[in-house]
Amino acid sequence: MSERSAAPGALALVESLVNTLDLETGADTLDTEKGRGRFAVPEEGLEETRELRESLRAVLLAHAGHPPHRPVTPLGELLSRAPLYLAVDQQDGSAGIAAPAGTAPLLSRVAAAVAEALVAGTWSRLKACEAEDCHWAYYDRSPAGRGRWCSMQVCGARAKMRRYRAKEK
Ligand SMILES: [Zn+2]
Repeated sequence: MSERSAAPGALALVESLVNTLDLETGADTLDTEKGRGRFAVPEEGLEETRELRESLRAVLLAHAGHPPHRPVTPLGELLSRAPLYLAVDQQDGSAGIAAPAGTAPLLSRVAAAVAEALVAGTWSRLKACEAEDCHWAYYDRSPAGRGRWCSMQVCGARAKMRRYRAKEK
Protein backbone atom coordinates (compact mmCIF):
# COMPACT_ATOMS: atom_id res chain seq x y z
CA MET A 1 0.00 0.00 0.00
CA SER A 2 1.11 3.51 -0.63
CA GLU A 3 0.51 6.94 0.79
CA ARG A 4 1.48 8.47 -2.53
CA SER A 5 -1.08 10.45 -4.48
CA ALA A 6 -2.54 8.93 -7.63
CA ALA A 7 -0.72 8.92 -10.96
CA PRO A 8 -1.60 11.87 -13.21
CA GLY A 9 -4.31 11.80 -15.87
CA ALA A 10 -5.35 8.56 -17.46
CA LEU A 11 -2.40 6.76 -15.86
CA ALA A 12 -4.43 6.57 -12.66
CA LEU A 13 -6.50 3.90 -14.43
CA VAL A 14 -3.41 1.76 -15.05
CA GLU A 15 -2.15 2.33 -11.53
CA SER A 16 -5.43 1.39 -9.88
CA LEU A 17 -5.84 -1.67 -12.11
CA VAL A 18 -2.39 -3.01 -11.19
CA ASN A 19 -3.15 -2.32 -7.54
CA THR A 20 -6.32 -4.42 -7.47
CA LEU A 21 -4.10 -7.30 -6.35
CA ASP A 22 -2.23 -7.32 -3.07
CA LEU A 23 0.59 -9.78 -3.79
CA GLU A 24 1.44 -10.20 -0.13
CA THR A 25 -2.01 -11.37 0.99
CA GLY A 26 -3.39 -12.53 -2.36
CA ALA A 27 -6.43 -10.28 -1.85
CA ASP A 28 -7.85 -9.41 -5.28
CA THR A 29 -10.58 -6.77 -5.47
CA LEU A 30 -11.48 -8.06 -8.96
CA ASP A 31 -12.98 -11.02 -7.09
CA THR A 32 -15.81 -8.76 -5.99
CA GLU A 33 -18.59 -7.34 -8.11
CA LYS A 34 -17.82 -3.85 -6.81
CA GLY A 35 -14.15 -4.22 -7.68
CA ARG A 36 -14.94 -5.37 -11.22
CA GLY A 37 -17.53 -2.60 -11.55
CA ARG A 38 -14.86 0.05 -11.09
CA PHE A 39 -13.27 -1.14 -14.33
CA ALA A 40 -16.48 -2.27 -16.01
CA VAL A 41 -15.15 -5.81 -16.24
CA PRO A 42 -17.78 -8.52 -16.69
CA GLU A 43 -17.19 -11.74 -14.79
CA GLU A 44 -16.36 -13.58 -18.03
CA GLY A 45 -13.65 -11.02 -18.73
CA LEU A 46 -11.89 -11.68 -15.46
CA GLU A 47 -9.13 -13.93 -16.77
CA GLU A 48 -8.22 -11.46 -19.54
CA THR A 49 -8.21 -8.62 -17.07
CA ARG A 50 -5.87 -10.48 -14.73
CA GLU A 51 -3.57 -11.27 -17.66
CA LEU A 52 -3.54 -7.58 -18.62
CA ARG A 53 -2.87 -6.57 -15.02
CA GLU A 54 0.24 -8.76 -14.73
CA SER A 55 1.53 -7.72 -18.18
CA LEU A 56 1.23 -4.13 -17.02
CA ARG A 57 2.98 -4.90 -13.73
CA ALA A 58 5.89 -6.46 -15.65
CA VAL A 59 6.27 -3.29 -17.72
CA LEU A 60 6.12 -1.09 -14.61
CA LEU A 61 8.88 -3.24 -13.11
CA ALA A 62 10.88 -2.77 -16.33
CA HIS A 63 10.48 1.01 -15.93
CA ALA A 64 12.36 0.65 -12.65
CA GLY A 65 15.02 -1.62 -14.20
CA HIS A 66 13.69 -4.93 -12.83
CA PRO A 67 12.97 -8.23 -14.61
CA PRO A 68 9.37 -9.49 -14.82
CA HIS A 69 7.99 -10.91 -11.57
CA ARG A 70 6.72 -13.95 -13.49
CA PRO A 71 6.25 -15.01 -17.12
CA VAL A 72 3.63 -12.77 -18.72
CA THR A 73 2.09 -12.15 -22.13
CA PRO A 74 4.03 -9.18 -23.55
CA LEU A 75 1.96 -6.02 -23.03
CA GLY A 76 2.53 -4.97 -26.65
CA GLU A 77 0.91 -8.20 -27.80
CA LEU A 78 -2.19 -7.53 -25.69
CA LEU A 79 -2.45 -3.89 -26.71
CA SER A 80 -2.18 -4.74 -30.40
CA ARG A 81 -5.70 -6.15 -30.00
CA ALA A 82 -7.02 -2.76 -28.89
CA PRO A 83 -7.77 -0.50 -31.82
CA LEU A 84 -7.23 3.22 -31.28
CA TYR A 85 -7.63 6.13 -33.61
CA LEU A 86 -7.15 9.86 -33.59
CA ALA A 87 -10.34 11.83 -33.21
CA VAL A 88 -10.04 15.32 -34.68
CA ASP A 89 -12.56 18.06 -34.01
CA GLN A 90 -13.49 19.75 -37.31
CA GLN A 91 -14.45 22.98 -35.53
CA ASP A 92 -11.34 23.78 -33.55
CA GLY A 93 -8.85 21.21 -34.86
CA SER A 94 -8.23 19.69 -31.45
CA ALA A 95 -7.25 16.03 -31.54
CA GLY A 96 -7.30 13.19 -29.09
CA ILE A 97 -6.69 9.47 -28.87
CA ALA A 98 -9.92 7.52 -28.83
CA ALA A 99 -11.26 4.00 -28.93
CA PRO A 100 -13.86 3.24 -31.62
CA ALA A 101 -17.32 4.43 -30.61
CA GLY A 102 -19.43 1.92 -28.76
CA THR A 103 -16.50 -0.36 -27.94
CA ALA A 104 -14.47 0.80 -25.00
CA PRO A 105 -13.38 -2.38 -23.31
CA LEU A 106 -10.77 -2.06 -20.64
CA LEU A 107 -7.99 -3.01 -23.06
CA SER A 108 -8.78 -0.02 -25.30
CA ARG A 109 -8.97 2.31 -22.33
CA VAL A 110 -5.60 1.08 -21.10
CA ALA A 111 -4.11 1.46 -24.59
CA ALA A 112 -5.44 5.04 -24.76
CA ALA A 113 -4.05 5.76 -21.29
CA VAL A 114 -0.60 4.51 -22.32
CA ALA A 115 -0.69 6.57 -25.53
CA GLU A 116 -1.72 9.69 -23.60
CA ALA A 117 1.01 9.14 -21.03
CA LEU A 118 3.58 8.74 -23.81
CA VAL A 119 2.58 12.11 -25.21
CA ALA A 120 2.65 13.66 -21.73
CA GLY A 121 6.03 12.10 -20.98
CA THR A 122 4.73 10.37 -17.86
CA TRP A 123 4.64 6.71 -18.94
CA SER A 124 8.14 5.73 -17.80
CA ARG A 125 7.50 7.20 -14.34
CA LEU A 126 4.74 4.74 -13.59
CA LYS A 127 6.67 1.97 -11.86
CA ALA A 128 6.25 -1.09 -9.70
CA CYS A 129 7.83 -1.29 -6.26
CA GLU A 130 10.98 -3.39 -6.20
CA ALA A 131 10.03 -5.26 -3.00
CA GLU A 132 9.20 -8.82 -4.07
CA ASP A 133 6.23 -9.17 -1.75
CA CYS A 134 4.84 -5.83 -2.88
CA HIS A 135 5.34 -4.84 -6.58
CA TRP A 136 2.68 -2.19 -5.98
CA ALA A 137 2.27 0.35 -8.80
CA TYR A 138 3.21 3.93 -7.99
CA TYR A 139 3.99 7.13 -9.80
CA ASP A 140 7.60 8.19 -9.27
CA ARG A 141 7.63 11.91 -8.51
CA SER A 142 11.26 12.01 -7.37
CA PRO A 143 13.19 14.76 -9.21
CA ALA A 144 15.67 12.33 -10.77
CA GLY A 145 13.08 9.63 -11.47
CA ARG A 146 15.03 6.99 -9.56
CA GLY A 147 12.43 5.99 -6.98
CA ARG A 148 12.56 2.32 -6.00
CA TRP A 149 9.70 1.70 -3.58
CA CYS A 150 6.00 2.41 -3.44
CA SER A 151 6.59 3.81 0.02
CA MET A 152 9.87 4.85 1.59
CA GLN A 153 8.23 4.37 5.00
CA VAL A 154 7.11 0.80 4.36
CA CYS A 155 9.02 -1.03 1.61
CA GLY A 156 12.05 1.27 1.67
CA ALA A 157 12.39 0.86 5.42
CA ARG A 158 11.99 -2.92 5.18
CA ALA A 159 14.69 -3.16 2.52
CA LYS A 160 17.07 -1.11 4.67
CA MET A 161 16.30 -3.29 7.67
CA ARG A 162 17.08 -6.44 5.65
CA ARG A 163 20.38 -5.01 4.48
CA TYR A 164 21.24 -4.02 8.02
CA ARG A 165 20.50 -7.53 9.31
CA ALA A 166 22.49 -9.12 6.50
CA LYS A 167 25.52 -7.04 7.49
CA GLU A 168 25.25 -8.13 11.11
CA LYS A 169 25.56 -11.82 10.28
ZN1 LIG B 1 6.23 -1.56 -2.00
